[in-house]
Amino acid sequence: MTINQSGWKPTAPEAKDGGAPATFTGNRALMLEEALIFEIGDDKTTGVDFPAGDVAGSRLGDLTRKAPIGLPGLSEPETIRHYTRLSRQNYAIDLGLFPLGSCTMKHNPRLNEKMARLPGFADVHPLQPVDTVQGALGVINELAFWLIELTGMEGVAMSPKAGAHGELCGILCIKAALEKRGEGHRKVVLVPESAHGTNPATAAFAGFTVEDIPATADGRVDLAALEARLGPDVAAVMITNPNTCGLFERDLKKISDAVHAAGGYVYCDGANFNAIVGRVRPGDLGVDAMHINLHKTFSTPHGGGGPGSGPVVLSKALAPFGPLPFTARHADGHIQLVEEETAGDDHPDTFGRMTAFHGQMGMFTRALTYILSHGADGLRQVAEDAVLNANYILRSLEDTLDAPFAGSGPCMHEAIFSDAGLAEGFSTIDIAKALIDEGFHPMTMYFPLVVHGAMLVEPTETESKAGIDQFVGALRSVAERAKAGDQSLKTAPHFAPRARLDETLAARKPVLVWKERPLAQAAE
Ligand SMILES: *Cc1c(COP(=O)(O)O)cnc(C)c1O
Repeated sequence: MTINQSGWKPTAPEAKDGGAPATFTGNRALMLEEALIFEIGDDKTTGVDFPAGDVAGSRLGDLTRKAPIGLPGLSEPETIRHYTRLSRQNYAIDLGLFPLGSCTMKHNPRLNEKMARLPGFADVHPLQPVDTVQGALGVINELAFWLIELTGMEGVAMSPKAGAHGELCGILCIKAALEKRGEGHRKVVLVPESAHGTNPATAAFAGFTVEDIPATADGRVDLAALEARLGPDVAAVMITNPNTCGLFERDLKKISDAVHAAGGYVYCDGANFNAIVGRVRPGDLGVDAMHINLHKTFSTPHGGGGPGSGPVVLSKALAPFGPLPFTARHADGHIQLVEEETAGDDHPDTFGRMTAFHGQMGMFTRALTYILSHGADGLRQVAEDAVLNANYILRSLEDTLDAPFAGSGPCMHEAIFSDAGLAEGFSTIDIAKALIDEGFHPMTMYFPLVVHGAMLVEPTETESKAGIDQFVGALRSVAERAKAGDQSLKTAPHFAPRARLDETLAARKPVLVWKERPLAQAAE
């Protein structure tokens, strides 16, 4: 679709949906085509009229811009329409079920947003005097209290900005603890095969050597293989629980005991804490450090590069090494922001700072609102409903799709399927693309790597039975077509504004800069 100086250029692709005619504009009723912003407006027009200046000459001197800024000049309505049209081509949690596994895309209560937008939280500045932000610090301090309470741990570092950042924080605590013990020579971090990619990346980034631990046939860490590898060179084990196959690591306590006996620490990737919150306290299972993705378990919207927050809860052994700054409530109610190693010598072993400031105020406010509005019983029900919904999907589809771990008992918050049994030449991607035509965002594909052609589906606790039934019906229908070798799946999606892009090329050679093209070429 191209719009140029000479007006609209109808370039609607050949009619795809059942012989409907191509339209002059390329639009299809409320499905509006949208060109690039540089194709709608160019840098030679302007959408704004400034009054003529009455000052002769410029006071900017040498600083005066020498060339045009190169932005398209569009009026306000044109600009708003451009971005609104684009946004309508995007899938969103407010549009429909978002079955991405491992990412926990759930409805975000509007109450959280209302609280986060209160000016006292939204407009707070990190350099404000501590006495003027006692309320905001109180929110951080209270959230910290509840995170410790829910996990049965000793301390919490609130400043990490995402799950992966939290992992780094936990690993740096482990490194500092080992150095303090004079055991900095422990350089190996053991990571199970089913780990999230951020786990080995974190360990390597912090200077450790990563070694794989195999999984058992039922999708869990191989305890015997792990025990056999423990020794004086092992710094830590990083385990995701519930793991990325959507299964609970039943042996976690035994694993922790073995790792501790061998002098190592246990890092737990707690991104999936939403499946066990209110039911299991990782501290009781011997975990030393665990990040919590506030943007998964405690509801803040995420994705699209939005803000994340990955507080890390720490055991008694690791809490002294946690980063600065942190909050401390004194008996008189005053909340102190502990920012220096030397402040009262109360945190001499800290490994330092993760970030310049404290963390994401909006996310803290949302998470605390979520926790307080659910209460203890509500949080437990979050976990129970998330697990119930995932098992409902697993049992509803296991007769149609291969479910590799269905035989080893219930799953946790996500159900996993493989591409076994599809017709020759058909794979997970064909099912995912066809789901787009059904009006759903596809599930997580080809992850975790331990399952061939994995499809990881996480409904979350916020979907109704009717909504899940519709999704199950769609996935069943698409899966049956893939098993029957229906060739039309190979060119799906048929109803999306763009279909099969060359994703490898897009990832390897992204075109990030718009360049003016001759009109003839643009019209192609
Ligand atoms: C999402 C996720 C992470 C990483 O969290 P980010 O906030 O995206 O950095 C780590 N581990 C698991 C299991 C996850 O699902």
